Amino acid sequence: MSERQEARLYKPLEDASIEGSVRCGLCTRGCVVAPGHAGFCGTRRNRDGVLLAVNYAAGARPGGLLAALESRPIEIKPFFHFYPGTTALTYAGRGCNLRCAWCQNAHLSRTTPNPARDACWSPEELVALALTWGDAGLSCSFSEPTLLHEFNRDVFRLARAAGLYTCYVSNGLISFKALRELASAGLDAVKIDVKGDDDVYYQYCQGPGAGPVWSAIRAARDLDLHLEIVYLMVPGVNDSEADMFRFIGRYMVEAGPDVPLHLTRYHPAGGFSASATPIATLERAWQMARAAGVRYPYLGNVAGHPGENTTCPTCGKLLIERHGDRVQAIHLTADNGCPDCGEVIPIVNQRPAEDE
Ligand code: SF4
Repeated sequence: MSERQEARLYKPLEDASIEGSVRCGLCTRGCVVAPGHAGFCGTRRNRDGVLLAVNYAAGARPGGLLAALESRPIEIKPFFHFYPGTTALTYAGRGCNLRCAWCQNAHLSRTTPNPARDACWSPEELVALALTWGDAGLSCSFSEPTLLHEFNRDVFRLARAAGLYTCYVSNGLISFKALRELASAGLDAVKIDVKGDDDVYYQYCQGPGAGPVWSAIRAARDLDLHLEIVYLMVPGVNDSEADMFRFIGRYMVEAGPDVPLHLTRYHPAGGFSASATPIATLERAWQMARAAGVRYPYLGNVAGHPGENTTCPTCGKLLIERHGDRVQAIHLTADNGCPDCGEVIPIVNQRPAEDE
């Protein structure tokens, strides 16, 4: 293996039966990795007791190994309450710490970093490209951003200094320490997927249950990151009324009523063959969320549906009109208030002043 940066957040296992084994603490899988082996995600490899981030080249040409790079609307992440109408330079590495049966980005998530086919970008080059293209920020997306942790810390420091926002589109399988490091480095916002209850993670995602994801949601709130949540409704997996009742109940406790909730339509992908989510199922879930007190529920992957719009939770006025990933009109006052009743909508469109 050519030269790679040492990973952060791992520890030697003192009592390991195999000398040189380490435990990775980047995500909540907590893999034990023996020398010569990689963790579940394929992005951390143990070389003689040193855990390496194989997606971050070191040496003469340091940089992250990226397999996708393009400018995209922030609404497509989706973030609906974070710099609406802007674009983010969106980048991705390879690998994932889950294996969801319906993954739309399996070509990235089920492959591992490879310097022969992936482009190597330094943090400086990436930030300069965002500025050149006129993007308002950067987004690590498509595959699991947690796995580019070391690279992202370096990118986010530079992005913040350059006045760009930064965000993650994550499955939420990230340790508190990692999230805290990112917040310190300049991460502004995180979108977290909830796949369903424990059984959905065990049966369809090879995951360690739903608990770690809810913990990440609490951690994002504690760290004051802007937070939005996606629940992909997969027919026969997590879309029954009982499923939604349990999910929304926990949502209200862990995320709270003001965190935007995206109830998203599934389409067959990744080899999973269930048919697309019926619109009526999505609409029923939207009604349940609203009735339970979620103030900003949205429908996703249904371009042209009124469930894409932001309405005032107090008086019902139409505040932001969307069509798919495009903002068509914003009717808010300068301080994000409803022009009819004055209700202030929690939308981030400028970074708070740095502490002195
Ligand atoms: S990041 Fe997660 S999946 Fe990858 S090696 Fe570390 S603990 Fe395992």
